[in-house]
Amino acid sequence: MPPVSIFLTLQNKKQLTHDVFELEYTSSESLHITPGQFLLCDTAGDPKLRRSYSVSWAAGTSVFFIIKRLPEGKGGSMAICDQTIGHTMQVWWPMGRFILQENTFPKVFIGTGTGFAPLYFMLKYSLKKMNNEKWIMNNGGMFFLFGVRELRDVFYQEELQQWSQESFFDYQICCSRESSSLPDKHREWRVTECLTPENISEMNKTGETEFYICGSPAMVTEVRSMLELYGISKEKVFFEQY
Ligand SMILES: Cc1cc2nc3c(=O)[nH]c(=O)nc-3n(C[C@H](O)[C@H](O)[C@H](O)COP(=O)(O)OP(=O)(O)OC[C@H]3O[C@@H](n4cnc5c(N)ncnc54)[C@H](O)[C@@H]3O)c2cc1C
Repeated sequence: MPPVSIFLTLQNKKQLTHDVFELEYTSSESLHITPGQFLLCDTAGDPKLRRSYSVSWAAGTSVFFIIKRLPEGKGGSMAICDQTIGHTMQVWWPMGRFILQENTFPKVFIGTGTGFAPLYFMLKYSLKKMNNEKWIMNNGGMFFLFGVRELRDVFYQEELQQWSQESFFDYQICCSRESSSLPDKHREWRVTECLTPENISEMNKTGETEFYICGSPAMVTEVRSMLELYGISKEKVFFEQY
């Protein structure tokens, strides 16, 4: 389906960290967005400030985003994060081929910063399916590796912790530049340091695991080459970078 334009109205804004915001919009019609897709957003009524944002959750007429406000950028992220409740924004959808494969293969999600956004949609959607529709994964479940710089950059940890009460989900948070001591489930590593040959082989013990990666181009490139080096076939690796 070719992208079509609609208008979204800002309904709610929550500050998740010192520079990351969760924005909830509503549209006049239901949007059928596949987990992983993004919308092209006219952040400030200026074609030069149109930016892509992954949908972090969609239900009925509600659409959520997780956006990092970058004061050093050209202005798109600041414009969208600074919108006030009731602001109306033009968007184009559907966009993107980085989508969740609806199958029962085990899945590993690797995301840094707001690269968590599309992965959050994929994870929440899969967990709901597993709980409500008894969507069973083959020999394993889902694992999320979340990379940030410091502890203050972590968001949605309570939800991750709650999800991890289920036997089929676990997660690890990597804080690459944190100097203070870290709580349970955190490591003072970069995500790539967690991807040892042993860990990758454990994650792929059935030989069927799919890997979904989203974050900075440098991280995505490094993780893809590591997966390739340790024998994961390209067909099992899906990625988005920004
Ligand atoms: C398919 C796609 C989906 C995206 N989804 C999201 C999303 O869900 N959340 C989100 O915050 N951004 C997302 N982005 C990035 C977004 O489109 C903008 O590039 C970003 O908000 C910066 O816009 P700007 O005008 O403020 O700065 P720009 O002047 O456009 O960029 C400034 C610099 O910031 C870097 N940058 C861009 N995005 C990020 C980021 N998230 N974290 C750290 N550095 C970044 C760029 O590499 C660039 O060097 C996505 C990009 C693409 C292509």
